Amino acid sequence: MNDDTPTATTTSATTTAPPVLNDWRLNVDVEKIAWATFDREGESANALGRRPLEELATIIDWVEKRAAEKAVRGLVIMSGKEKGFIVGADIREFADLKTQEQVVDAIKPVNEMLDRIEKMKVPVVAAIHGVCVGGGLELILACHYRIATRDDSTKIGFPEVKLGIFPGFNGTARSIRQAGAIAGMTAMLKGSMIRATAARAQGFIDQLVDSKGALRWAARKAVMQKRKSKPKGWFASLMSKWPARGFLAGKLRDETKKRVRPDHYPAPFALIDLFEEHGGSYDEMKREETKAFAPLMVSDTSKNLRRVFFLSEALKAQAPKGLSWKPMRAHIIGAGTMGADIAGWCVASGMEVTLQDLSKEQIENGIAAQSRLFKKKFRKKPANDAAKARLIADPDGNGIARADIIIEAIVEKLDVKQTLFKDLEAKMKPGAVMASNTSSLKIEDIAAPLKDPGRLIGIHFFNPVAQMPLVEVVRGASSRQEEVDKGAAFVTAIDKFPLIVKSVPGFLVNRVLAPYMMGAMARVDAGEEKEKIDEAARTFGMPMGPIELADTVGLDVCASVGQILGLGNKVSGAAQLVNAGKLGKKTGQGYYTWKDGKPVKSEDARYGNGELEKLGRELVEPLIAEAQRAVDEGVVETADLVDAGVIFGTGFAPFRGGPLHYKTELSAATEELTAAE
Ligand code: NAD
Repeated sequence: MNDDTPTATTTSATTTAPPVLNDWRLNVDVEKIAWATFDREGESANALGRRPLEELATIIDWVEKRAAEKAVRGLVIMSGKEKGFIVGADIREFADLKTQEQVVDAIKPVNEMLDRIEKMKVPVVAAIHGVCVGGGLELILACHYRIATRDDSTKIGFPEVKLGIFPGFNGTARSIRQAGAIAGMTAMLKGSMIRATAARAQGFIDQLVDSKGALRWAARKAVMQKRKSKPKGWFASLMSKWPARGFLAGKLRDETKKRVRPDHYPAPFALIDLFEEHGGSYDEMKREETKAFAPLMVSDTSKNLRRVFFLSEALKAQAPKGLSWKPMRAHIIGAGTMGADIAGWCVASGMEVTLQDLSKEQIENGIAAQSRLFKKKFRKKPANDAAKARLIADPDGNGIARADIIIEAIVEKLDVKQTLFKDLEAKMKPGAVMASNTSSLKIEDIAAPLKDPGRLIGIHFFNPVAQMPLVEVVRGASSRQEEVDKGAAFVTAIDKFPLIVKSVPGFLVNRVLAPYMMGAMARVDAGEEKEKIDEAARTFGMPMGPIELADTVGLDVCASVGQILGLGNKVSGAAQLVNAGKLGKKTGQGYYTWKDGKPVKSEDARYGNGELEKLGRELVEPLIAEAQRAVDEGVVETADLVDAGVIFGTGFAPFRGGPLHYKTELSAATEELTAAE
């Protein structure tokens, strides 16, 4: 705290004391500034659930009255949490809203309260440090002035579209008014996080300060000087007027269609319609927002996307809380495709990493390749330099004895891996985790020659490491639970989702993908058009068709995964391509010809939606059947975790809630239909 920071001592000299609340603290200092600090009881993050919103309404009531009596000259809204500001509305409570009427009833008092904040006679200032998203951003947009720290952790955003909805606390109207239609709509449609400096440039934030300590002083000054935010200039507001609005809506619709399909993700398209029809009037937009929001909130898409959010939480929960082991230093062996990127990702997550390989050149290249990731993660030079300094070339393995975790990513040969781990066992410090990134060998086989085979686990990353959110933590037949726990904790520490799996061929993700891809390739053998197959899979909701995926992964890799899983070489077309050296994207030719990193697809073919939908459902059947077998055989502990693994490991249509959930829903719908007939 700065020396000149005003103290927040409560005074009741002139009026009644501020209310004592559970999730907020309200104090009035000697300068008559009311400080409302959001610190949700019993939670590590501030979510705007029912109680905190009711308590905020109590605060607003109290401040309004005291302001009228001149006992309060302004209100500052802050967070009491060490890290975040407000993570949004409380998603856990969404399930209570079952009908559109219930949604409207729940939203109404919140929007009325935000209007009262906006109309407050004294200045209301938001002082932001850390993440401020969703409902949190909607709340600060109703304030008169917004100050944020320049910290890397301070970000704003509207992630609602990821939950199948859009902002519902009048954030649609307020963001467009504040930042203009282009910045406002883009933020809501993309759902991405915006850093404080960019948010300031776009107009969401009015002032930046260097540190959390400077926030209170700046907020005090803003209240004293009655600062008021100035919405973006004439050009920004011009885009909300007709005919510019119609033109912009058309462009946004085209852009959005490139990313998602309206039948899979209706929310962004409903938002564009709302803007096009009502974006010219602030009051109309506010009113109509609720009407368009309510049906989305109770839709299956939103329910399933919320399910995906909870599944991601379930994955994180696999790492036991309160573990005293904290990974700070990692040693990665093998600086090839996987090892170098694993090292880079660990460094980007704050760790110090030593990178070893037989080839010094390989290490150098591997380290150089991480500069792109560091550039993206650390915009400021000191942080970028610090990241580079944390990634250390270590051809002699000096980091082994100091590392908290060692991950091996060398050639996929059992005897070579066994020799390496025997050597490591003698050098590693006690308590350090020993892990292999193997994709096909059994952990217990690699561990067999060790003195303590219980120590080895698998930590299976996917390629490309920076983009794939899931990491399988493999429990070998001999692996100790304590080591599996540490493995899961490591994965969450580097901001990925851990999935604990048994050491079986293909673990979970490759196991479910293989029959799906092989099935699709067999269809090509049988004469089905590859373009049609890929289009059908996308119609179902897969991020990429299975034939394009096979080409991307490499047809040689697919063949070897098929062998490992005992699927053999059933696909003669693929085998012929491999024999001819046509391995897919990496050789420029596979099923497709690849140009500039993209497959050249025949444009002649046009397919009916009905046939694509039917084919799409058939294509995923082998994947779903395999996912069910994975549950039955205990590869992963629960059906929900299988769904989570398949969504985050393969991109399986998130809006369908996972393969097993989809299967259950489909059976229920079929039963209902049969009963109705
Ligand atoms: P790669 O061939 O790109 O890299 C392997 C690196 O290991 C090479 O740089 C090589 O010089 C080095 N190396 C070999 N023996 C070594 C030793 N004894 N000591 C130190 N360095 C040694 O391989 P990759 O694709 O990165 O795969 C590595 C591991 O990761 C394999 O077990 C593989 O199954 C697994 N994996 C690969 C992928 C993928 O998509 N490539 C995905 C998941 C898991």
